Amino acid sequence: MECPSQTADFTFTDPVEACLRLLLLSPLGADARNLAFFPEDGDLADYCNGDRMRRVHAALPQGAAALTCTMFFDEINRDEKGFNTGDGAIVVGGFFRARARESTDAKVSFGTFPKLRFPASNRNLDRVKLFLKQLRHSQLNAIYDCFTRFNNRGGAVVQLQTGTPLYLARAVILAIYGDFPAARKITLTGSGCPQCFVPEDLFNVDNGKAAREPRTRRAMKKRKRTLLLLSTTGTTACKENADKRARREGVDLCVENGMLGVDNDKNWIFGAHPELDNVFQNMPQVSLHGMDEGLTSKLNLGCIEAVILELKEAPGKIKWSKAGVCRRIDRQVCAAMYSFDLNSEFKLSH
Ligand SMILES: [Zn+2]
Repeated sequence: MECPSQTADFTFTDPVEACLRLLLLSPLGADARNLAFFPEDGDLADYCNGDRMRRVHAALPQGAAALTCTMFFDEINRDEKGFNTGDGAIVVGGFFRARARESTDAKVSFGTFPKLRFPASNRNLDRVKLFLKQLRHSQLNAIYDCFTRFNNRGGAVVQLQTGTPLYLARAVILAIYGDFPAARKITLTGSGCPQCFVPEDLFNVDNGKAAREPRTRRAMKKRKRTLLLLSTTGTTACKENADKRARREGVDLCVENGMLGVDNDKNWIFGAHPELDNVFQNMPQVSLHGMDEGLTSKLNLGCIEAVILELKEAPGKIKWSKAGVCRRIDRQVCAAMYSFDLNSEFKLSH
């Protein structure tokens, strides 16, 4: 029996406040060696080495720092015995150095998106899907507003646990991490690449520079306008064609992205450069065609083939557990990574 509900509540902890608490109250924040507020030269081993951090700081008043963070959105399965699954959100202090960020003291789970129950017969209705998308983006917008509020107030002057006073001029989301279904719920880019307009079926071919146009607020709005015009003013065939194109290119014609921000936003949240720092470019994707076209998928396939070979060579000796295989692949990828010098063109912040 489904119980109709009139409202959908979403309660979450203000992620900016959570970050401040991590900085000012957690044991990690008491040790200056764990903290990095300002850009540093280095081989891109940490957030403070990246170009985004440099851009953020170049735009701040002299001496001021940013309260940086990264966010993780993922589905969590709490229990097999009747608990609901839900999408969870975690915020990690970006001012902690990489080593410190591994600690649980560096992160806070600030909310879970409540799962709304619809009867099975309604779950696949277009208007139900549309409602769920709109709901999610009003929730994401509420999260985004916490940052806007802090920045509109002009930030905060705090005293670090080490005794040093620091002016945190603004709160910044350096990156949002999500696997594919979680990422596209945030970028609203459907099956297309969250960072550029390449559709899923072209991920494994060379699309040329023109096809790799990065998604930005302006580029997305422009495509949406064109596709909406095609969709609303032409014939039925024309509309179908435009809708199909919109789905392939990952441009949502119905729902406004809750983290898109506003035009000429002086109180930017994702970074100082609207073309390089936005909800799309701050969403690093490792699983798609991000490096060279097809390179990542080839690496993945190679790893799986190597694992299968290894298992075949030692039958019975290695347990065929999913976790075991994943860990084996992780080790192989790490070994492969460390055997190459980091390409200086490779940006962690991208
Ligand atoms: Zn892409």
